[in-house]
Parts: sequence; C-alpha cells; structure tokens
Amino acid sequence: MPATSNIYPTKQLQERDAAHHIHPFTDTGALNREGSRIITGAEGVWLTDSDGNRYLDGMAGLWCTQVGHGRKEIADAVYDQMRQLDYYNTFFKTSHPPAVELADKLAQLTPPQFNRVFYTGSGSEANDTVFRMVRTYWDLMGEPKRKHIIGRWNGYHGSTLAGTSLGGMTAMHAQGDLPIPGVHHIAQPYWFGEGGDMSQEEFGLLTARELERAIEEIGPENVAAFIAEPIQGAGGVIIPPETYWPEISRIVKKFGILLVVDEVICGFGRLGTWFGSDYYGIEPDLMPIAKGLSSGYLPIGGVMVADKVANAFIEKGGEFFHGYTYSGHPACCAAALANLKIMEEEKLVERVAEDIGPYLQKSWKELGDHPLVGEARMVGLVGALELVPVKGDRSKAFTPVGDVGTLCRDISFNNGLVMRAVRDSMIISPPLVISHEEADMLVERATKTLDQTF
Ligand code: PLP
Repeated sequence: MPATSNIYPTKQLQERDAAHHIHPFTDTGALNREGSRIITGAEGVWLTDSDGNRYLDGMAGLWCTQVGHGRKEIADAVYDQMRQLDYYNTFFKTSHPPAVELADKLAQLTPPQFNRVFYTGSGSEANDTVFRMVRTYWDLMGEPKRKHIIGRWNGYHGSTLAGTSLGGMTAMHAQGDLPIPGVHHIAQPYWFGEGGDMSQEEFGLLTARELERAIEEIGPENVAAFIAEPIQGAGGVIIPPETYWPEISRIVKKFGILLVVDEVICGFGRLGTWFGSDYYGIEPDLMPIAKGLSSGYLPIGGVMVADKVANAFIEKGGEFFHGYTYSGHPACCAAALANLKIMEEEKLVERVAEDIGPYLQKSWKELGDHPLVGEARMVGLVGALELVPVKGDRSKAFTPVGDVGTLCRDISFNNGLVMRAVRDSMIISPPLVISHEEADMLVERATKTLDQTF
C-alpha cells in the first residue's frame, strides 16, 4: 500500500489540514468552515478522494500532468537517480549527468535559437530569473537604461514578487503593493469580451499595437523586454486572433527589445506542438518552462536562453549572481527525462495535433450552443467555456455574473469532473493521454454540469 493511502477518516484529515496548513490561492476562512477535498490517489486521467469518489482530472493537476498520473517509468527513474546521486547542486562550476542530459535534450526539443537552459524549481522562479537576466543582459550590452519590462493585463507569470509583477492580475498586485517599479502592462487580446464590433483580425492588430504605443511612451531606449504567454492560461484561456503574434513580433524586432514567451502552460505539447512558440511561429529570446517538463511528478522549471542572450553572458562575462539550491536537482532532472521519453515514445505531441485534440475540440465547441455558454474555445488540449448571462450578448462577457463559475466548478466536482473556474469561464486542460472514451465522458459531465448550473 502506498505510504500516502488514506488510513485516516476524511473528517480527521480535513480538521488537521485546516488547523495546520495554509493553502495557496484559497480562501482560508472558507477552507476552515467547509474543509478541503482530500485527494489520495491517481491513475491515468483519474483522481480518487479520501471517500473513494473518482474524478476525471480535466485540468491535468494544474495544467501539468501531460503523461497522465501514476507512470511507473517516472517513479523508477527517480528512485534509481536517488540511489545513485540523491542531491548535489549545480553551483560553482559543478554539474551531474541528469542535468547535462536534460539540458542537451531541451536544446534538441526547443526552437533552434535555444541551446542552453537555466534550471529553476518552478515557473515562478523561472520568471524571477527572467526578470534579473533581462536587466543584466542590457547592463552587459552597455545599455543599462533598459530596465523597463512590459507584460499584459490578466497575464500570469507566477506568484513570486517578479512573477506577480510581470503578470497582470490586479487582485494579486493589491496584495503586496506590486508591481515592482519598471513593470508596465498592456491590454490582452481578449476579443470575445473586449473586441466590441471589431473583427478578430482588427482587434488582434489593435491590441498588439498597444505594445508599440507603450514602448514609445516609456522611451524605446528604456525598454528591456516584453513578456507574454502564447495563449493566456490562468487568465481564462485567452486565444489571440491570428494577426496578434505576427504584429507583436514585428514591433519587438523594430525596437530591438527582448521577447520573453512564457511556455509554462503552452509548452510540452499542450497546443499540439512542442511549444506554443512553434504553434504561433514566434521567435523568443527567453522561454520560461515548467509544469509539463516533468508532468508535475517533481518540481522543476527553467528558462531557455537563446544564443544571443547566452553569448552576452559568455563573452562579456562575470558571474550571474543568481540560482536556487534546487537548480538542476538530479532527481527532478531524472523525472523530466523519463517524462520526455514517454512523450516521445508515445508520440503525445502528434497525438494532440492529429487525433485527440481535433476529437475533443469538436464536441467541446458544440457546447457553444448551450444556453449558458457564450463561447466555447479550444486549441490543442486547452479550452474554455465562457459563461454569459445573456446568450448572444458579448457585451456582458467579463462582467462577473456572480459566483456562476465557482458554482459550476463545484457542481462539476459532484459530477466527477475537475474543471477550473476563472471568473465565469470553465477551463479544461486534460492529460495528453486522455482516451476518446474519456474525452466523451468529459464532455458528457461538462454538459450535465452546465444543465445543473442554471
Ligand atoms: N507562468 C505561467 C504561464 C503559469 O501558468 C504559471 C503557473 O500556472 C507560472 C508561470 C508559475 O509557475 P509555478 O506555479 O510553477 O511557479
């Protein structure tokens, strides 16, 4: 029996949890009143709770379990690595085989400008690294005035000080007096909610050109970088119009600023390509990664560093005073390598592009006909149902309907499906191994949930 099996009654676990555990992104008062949901096991796309209920994990944990739960190959690789070399750091010119092998593998899988990775323990740490690396790069290049970084409203780049600042979540900014000075935000390409009468193409150009306007306002000589997710994930699966990324790329090149594309959600097959940058034909200079890198089995992230940036550090030199005790942790690297091996052997990226992606998208998009749904959108295996108070009236989108999203999420749980509520959108991002039959179950349960949410 696994050590974490449920040997305690649920109520007792909930009471001890509330007494001693402060949870991330959780209303602590509500948790204390209502108790937590205790998950005790997982296999494939299925979760089991402490009362034996089973849920279809429509969120791949937190957008990360690409290869599904319970993969023995990853557990074995971690066990073997821990027996061989449990921990050693990668500071002060030290390395070890799993860190080397994974860096080499990532150089092969990522777009050609990337040949090097800086390891972190998470996506947030990756974006903290980005923050310092970008500013240090411009110092090295003899342009120390370039300190300003532009992100987007409603973007999410983690919850450390730099991550929260680069992200555009105002509720997060309010806690901690953020953003850090020198960080700016422009509009998101959220056509459904904010595009008004414009075509998607026009709106894509308009929102991209906000970047040009912001750069000119700040002064091009002061701007270091622009950061964005290919598709905004935690912001509600905001899929940009086709015109958006080409225009952003043009503007970034025009002003010579660094482009940071945060691949923490879109990377590792989520869109049916290895990276979101491949999907949209973007050429980033820095690429934060995490989540799908290890399918969440162990915490590991990193920043892919393009040759242009890496060469400045190599040639102009000096120490980069930055790093984490767990940068390139051997067991985490071993988990990532085993995960990537499964992804390649089972051709999961191709599967999302050619098979399960189109299959699930078809029935997901049909949910757009439901009276509660304003838009059903999906790329690869990440999708959203945007709930609207008045069918057919887009002007009411993004106007909180109340707690419809939260209500819908709770009903969904009771129907055995984990979806995530972002305001009044219901989000899915299932494991890339989900079968056709399970995809059908997901849509059936989502439909039942919508019907009951009225
Ligand atoms: N960047 C993006 C795009 C994310 O979605 C997330 C987490 O959801 C992060 C960064 C932060 O990653 P982590 O939670 O591993 O710190």
